Amino acid sequence: MTDTTLTAPHTPADLPGAIRHYIDGSLVDSLDGATFDVLDPVTGRVYLQAAAGKKADVDAAVAAARRAFADGPWPRMLPRERSRVLHRIADLVESRDARLAELESFDSGLPITQALGQARRAAENFRFFADLIVAQADDTYKVPGRQINYVNRKPIGVAGLITPWNTPFMLESWKLAPALATGNTVVLKPAEFTPLSASLWAGIFEEAGLPPGVFNLVNGLGEDAGDALVKHPDVPLISFTGESSTGKLIFANAAPHLKGLSMELGGKSPAIVFADADLDAAIDATIFGVFSLNGERCTAGSRILVERSVYDEFVERYAAQAERVRVGYPHDPATEVGALVHPEHFEKVMSYVELGKSEGRLVAGGGRPEGFETGTFVAPTVFADVPPTARIFQEEIFGPVVAITPFDTDAEALDLANDTKYGLAAYVWTNDLKRAHNFSQAVEAGMVWLNSNNVRDLRTPFGGVKASGLGHEGGYRSIDFYTHQQAVHITL
Ligand code: NAD
Repeated sequence: MTDTTLTAPHTPADLPGAIRHYIDGSLVDSLDGATFDVLDPVTGRVYLQAAAGKKADVDAAVAAARRAFADGPWPRMLPRERSRVLHRIADLVESRDARLAELESFDSGLPITQALGQARRAAENFRFFADLIVAQADDTYKVPGRQINYVNRKPIGVAGLITPWNTPFMLESWKLAPALATGNTVVLKPAEFTPLSASLWAGIFEEAGLPPGVFNLVNGLGEDAGDALVKHPDVPLISFTGESSTGKLIFANAAPHLKGLSMELGGKSPAIVFADADLDAAIDATIFGVFSLNGERCTAGSRILVERSVYDEFVERYAAQAERVRVGYPHDPATEVGALVHPEHFEKVMSYVELGKSEGRLVAGGGRPEGFETGTFVAPTVFADVPPTARIFQEEIFGPVVAITPFDTDAEALDLANDTKYGLAAYVWTNDLKRAHNFSQAVEAGMVWLNSNNVRDLRTPFGGVKASGLGHEGGYRSIDFYTHQQAVHITL
C-alpha cells in the first residue's frame, strides 16, 4: 500500500485575482478582453482568470520588444552591465524562493520541497549566465602576413520563448537568462496550465532594473498565443520546450520564416541496471529518477532495464520502495509525490495505468492512493515484465509510472534502450569501467548519467536526439543559439 500523508489542502495568502500580460513595462489585459480559467490541481477549483492572448496581443508584445531592441539600451550595454542586472535578478529570485515555491507548488501540484529546489535552480540559471557572458571570449584567426579574422558576436533580436507546465518557473529561467544575457529582447509565452509563478517575473525584472520592453509576457493557449509568436515575422528565434508533437508543428509553422529553432522535447529515458551495479544506489536513484517532480519530468527514467540474474530481487525491492514513496498534499514538506498538474493530464496518466495492467505485471500502485478520492493524485505505479512492444514501454506517460523489463546480454540491453522514438537521457548502472563507457557511448541519448542521479552541470550540453529534440542548450551553446557570429576578415 502506498505511503500517504493526509493533511488538508492549502491556499496561499494574497493570491492575485487575475493574471495579465506584461507588455512594454505595463500589465495589460487582452485587447479583446478574453480570459481563460486557471485551476488548482488539488481541489480542481478555478481560482483565477488569466488573460488569453491572441495574435493582436502577441503583435503588441513583439512590437515592444522590437523597439527595445532597435532603440533601447539593453543590446548596447556592456556585458558587465547586463551581468549586474542578471545577478540582481538572481538575488531577488533567491530572496523570494519561499513565496515562489508556495505559488508554484499550489499551481502545479509539485511537492513544496522540490518546488523550492526549482526556485533556487532558477536563480542559479541567472547567476550562471551572468558570469558566462562576462567571461565570453570570441575567436580570432591569423593567417600570418595575410589576414586577421575575428568573430563579432551580436544579439539577434526578439526571441520567442515557449515553455511547458512542468517546473515552469525554472524552465522559463533556463531560456530567459541566456536570451537576456546576450542582449536580446524577449516575448515569453508560458504554459496555460501554470501561469502563476510566471506572473512574478515582471516585478522581479523591474526591481532588478531591466529596461521596459526588454521582457514581455503574453499568456494564452498554445494554438493562439504560441502559434502567433511562432508565425510572427519579426521573431527570428524560437526556443521551445514541450511535447514532440507540438515541436513538429512549430517546426513546420516556423519554416516559411526560416527561424532559428531550439527544440527541447519529450522523452522515454531508460535506466539500465547491470548485475554488477551497486543495487542499493541504483534502486534509490531509479526511484528518484521517475517519482521526483511527480514523474512530470522530461528526463524521467521511466523504463528500467534490469539484467536477468538480479531481476527478481530488483523488482521486489523496487516495488517495496515505491510503496514507501510518500504521496501527499503538495504544500506538506513530507510529501514526495504531490498532485498531477491538471485533471486532463491526470486522465491521461490514469489511462496508461489501466493499460499497463494488461501490458505488464502490476507490482506497486495502480490507481489513486488511499485517502485521496478526489484531486489529481496517482500512487507511484510500477509494472514489471513489460515487453518492448507495450505502449507503456514506448510512449511518454509523464507521471509516476515506470515499466521494468529484463535483459540477458549487453547487446540486448542496448537494443531495448534504443527501442523508442525518443533519445533524451539514459542512466547506466554498472561497476565495469569498460562496459560503462562503451554502453554510454552507444546508447541513443543526448545525455547519459553513469552510476548517477540526474544532476546537471550547467556548462554541459542539454538536449536530446531523435524525437527528443533538435539543438543544444547549456553553457556556451545557449550563448551560440541566442547570438549571430559574424566573421570579419581583414587583409593585412
Ligand atoms: P506542450 O507541447 O503541450 O506545450 C508546451 C508549450 O507549447 C505551452 O506553452 C503550450 O501552450 C505551447 N503550445 C502548444 N501548442 C502550440 C502551438 N501550436 N504553437 C506554439 N505553441 C504551442 O507540452 P506540455 O504538455 O506543456 O509539457 C510537457 C512536455 O514537455 C513533455 O513531453 C516533456 O517531456 C516536455 N519537456 C521537455 C523538456 C526538455 O528539456 N527536453 C523539458 C521539460 C518538458
